[in-house]
Amino acid sequence: MSSPILSISRAPNLQSHIPWPSLSYASLPTSRFLPRSSEAASVSVRVNKYDFSPMCPLCDIEMEDDYHAFALCPQVINSWTTAGLNHILMHILPKFNNIVDLLLDICSKEDQDIAGRIAALVWCVWQHRNATVWNNLHSSSEQIGGQAFQLWKNWFDVHQSRTHVQTLQTAQHIEQWRKPHDGWLKINVDAGFFEHQGVTTTACCVRNNNGEFIAALTHKFNSSMSILEGEAMALLDAVQLPINK
Ligand SMILES: [Zn+2]
Repeated sequence: MSSPILSISRAPNLQSHIPWPSLSYASLPTSRFLPRSSEAASVSVRVNKYDFSPMCPLCDIEMEDDYHAFALCPQVINSWTTAGLNHILMHILPKFNNIVDLLLDICSKEDQDIAGRIAALVWCVWQHRNATVWNNLHSSSEQIGGQAFQLWKNWFDVHQSRTHVQTLQTAQHIEQWRKPHDGWLKINVDAGFFEHQGVTTTACCVRNNNGEFIAALTHKFNSSMSILEGEAMALLDAVQLPINK
């Protein structure tokens, strides 16, 4: 059965990186639980190379379980603050005693942007924690919070851009030109507005039921019209065009 946390639909695409299943089954290899996970042969080789303490590698104040690693560690709380999410953590923290229930509550009650920002923060916190443990690399709480926000923003901008392009493509598909019925002409009209130059332009194009070009007209007005006026003038040109021919 998959973790409900995987249902974060608008969060950055971290599912393949962040240890959601490990979180949901309380099997994340934090310092406190690493001796238990080391029973697995694939992990024990790595464990034996290091002298592990159950204490948190960031604050060295409390034992590090997943709840401490993501929500209770003083250094991590500072990162929540820098990422602009501390008010959510402080509001929700008294209600739970484990990270899974806390994150599930966020996913079910907060909007998707907030859930995405928190997913990015959890990812950055875990990356920083591992960099500290395995490579002795340290970042400040402010750097982690800033990285999380930037990660989410980059994802958000790309997502917005893709959505915009998809919307345009959909609109273009819907508005694809269609031939008129047999014996009919179709006249398409449009207007252009150039406020800085004080110019409004109109255009119309006539095609028959085979889609063949019949006639066209463009018109330039040296005045700034409203959209309603410009579109109306384009229609007027279109109506007069067949009459004059
Ligand atoms: Zn700590």
